[in-house]
Amino acid sequence: MIFFRKPEEEEESKLAPELRELKDAAPKAQLPEHVAGVVARELERLEKTDPSIPEYSIGINYVEYLLSLPWHSFTEDNLDLHRAEQILESQHYGLKHVKERILEYLAVRTLCLLRPFQVLVVDDEEIARTNMEHVLKKEGYQVTTAANGLEALERARGQAFDLILTDLKMDKMDGLQLLEAVKDVAPHAAVIMITGFATVDSAVAAMQKGAVHYLPKPIKFEELRSTVKRIFEKKRTLQKTRGPVLCFAGPPGTGKTSIGQSIAEALERKFVRLSLAGLRDEADLRGHRRTYVGAMPGRIINEIRRLGVRNPVFMLDEIDKIGQGFKGDPASVLLEILDPEQNSNFVDHYLDVPFDLSEVMFITTANVVADLPTPLLDRLEVIQYSGYSENEKRDIARHFLIPRQLAHHGLSNQAPAFTDNAILAIIRGYTREAGLRNLEREIATVCRKLARICLKGQGAACPATVDQELIETLLGPRKYIHEVTAADNRIGVATGLVWTEFGGEIIFVEAAAMEGNKQLILTGSLGNVLQESAQTALSYVRSHARQYGIDPDFFAKQDIHIHLPAGAIPKDGPSAGVTIAMALISLLTGRPARRDVAMTGELTLRGAILPVSGIREKLLAAQRAGARVVIFPQRNAVDLNDIDEELKAGLEIVLAPEIDGGLIDKVLLPR
Ligand code: ADP
Repeated sequence: MIFFRKPEEEEESKLAPELRELKDAAPKAQLPEHVAGVVARELERLEKTDPSIPEYSIGINYVEYLLSLPWHSFTEDNLDLHRAEQILESQHYGLKHVKERILEYLAVRTLCLLRPFQVLVVDDEEIARTNMEHVLKKEGYQVTTAANGLEALERARGQAFDLILTDLKMDKMDGLQLLEAVKDVAPHAAVIMITGFATVDSAVAAMQKGAVHYLPKPIKFEELRSTVKRIFEKKRTLQKTRGPVLCFAGPPGTGKTSIGQSIAEALERKFVRLSLAGLRDEADLRGHRRTYVGAMPGRIINEIRRLGVRNPVFMLDEIDKIGQGFKGDPASVLLEILDPEQNSNFVDHYLDVPFDLSEVMFITTANVVADLPTPLLDRLEVIQYSGYSENEKRDIARHFLIPRQLAHHGLSNQAPAFTDNAILAIIRGYTREAGLRNLEREIATVCRKLARICLKGQGAACPATVDQELIETLLGPRKYIHEVTAADNRIGVATGLVWTEFGGEIIFVEAAAMEGNKQLILTGSLGNVLQESAQTALSYVRSHARQYGIDPDFFAKQDIHIHLPAGAIPKDGPSAGVTIAMALISLLTGRPARRDVAMTGELTLRGAILPVSGIREKLLAAQRAGARVVIFPQRNAVDLNDIDEELKAGLEIVLAPEIDGGLIDKVLLPR
């Protein structure tokens, strides 16, 4: 038998297999209209392109990429707030204030999503009114009716409608007049104008005046249903994302990522995390244009494709760390990505077609938010995370970190018990941090070594308890000692408390005098504010020299050098003023300063001590370093009241309004 092929089939058969596959796949990919058009055009172009030239494979990759994106797939949110609370609670110790803020955020979101839409139907014909009311009520909307424009306006004053469906021709106040009037009364209500066939012009006028749609009379109910549904779907998406974007701020290792993961788990969404630290180029986020050789899509779109859904919880990590010399303006790129009005049409340069990111729940993290550009900060709802106290760390280690690491290292069955002292030994001897990163790492090291011991003795040698001694055997010599208790009291060295992006820290301010002529030398990568603090402290000491038994001419033949150690790390801020003054007074009076007295506060020329920030973090740092006395500005008393007693235990807290003889006696020992 002779088999005849139709000419177009013959054409098709000549297609390369990869092109054939794409042509088959395209109609099944449920692409949005604008993308389907682009794909069709690209495929057409490829059919005419010689497969041996690079443009061909670039084109094939491009179409493959477009087809593989999750244009329509998303996960259904689980809106059970009680379950969310349980998940947050079971996976995190403490963080009461953070959990509350997150549950409130989720509650508002859920309420917005569950609230039925309110519709106002305005028509002077009773039958039309009742029919529309019936159809819309069946769709689950709450419907109110009005027989004319005036009545409608009255109703809109008392109730917030999402949609007003109004007839055009009515007595008293017609549809167009109502449209104008509701702009003031109910600015968020969408208006659909219902017009007779004869008045298409007025329908156009209505659209121009701000109606979102018009429907001809007699109303087709199917059209009514689908139009209203479309309008509400759009509103829902906006509502879902209109709220501010969460920004978790705080030192590393305090649970920011981990809380983000719990939120995703609670909502039953997929989770992805992308660190922005050191990004140098806008193209990293938004892709390269395809004209570049080796062009690639940006990281955002790539992650969405990898997850295969368009509504994950997307954590943008360290938004304060975008690399210096970033090409393009990082704040405006971020704003575009985070703003639901703009991100529903996010264009990745490689894709070159908009992709809707408005269903993505973005969460950002930062160590310090103070330096973020204001427009960006305005969009963010900052939730502050703070460091953990020693006891909190011990409890988290016991209940979360140790069981997890034992399981990861195959030790769940043997599960050696860690004593409290063992855990504290790890915290004190091998970590010095506000968060838990190194603690978890050290626990992992212990588990690794335990695994080896257990395997060697085939279970018999597995220790039943891990105590302090075993920790020291496994982890080797301690890495850290209590800095302040271990150090000697010296003349010209005072202990200060500062706040950095890693949490609170202890610093030793050093002052030295040498022959010279009235020079103040400042070193340690000090910023402008810190340099001015040092000058103020010096002037304060010079102007009060007699009061403290210092030779008023001391500066005449001397240079003074002030140094803040860790010289390579830039420092700034006013809170070291008091410490610098104490180091100077110690130097000039020859009285040694107590190392275990740590202080913070901004000093004025008169000697008044002004309040500073980061009190909790500083208190934690003092505790970590083993300080016994902490001096805070008097006006920080309110901040201290908010802090758990546990954090203050074992510390003598002195609240000082100003520097005076009494305060100096607290810090300086007799000569
Ligand atoms: P961040 O993102 O702030 O740097 P992570 O979320 O990575 O910190 O936290 C570091 C580790 O400490 C993670 O293993 C995390 O599960 C754990 N962790 C942090 N805070 C808590 C907490 N409150 N309860 C239990 N585990 C915690």
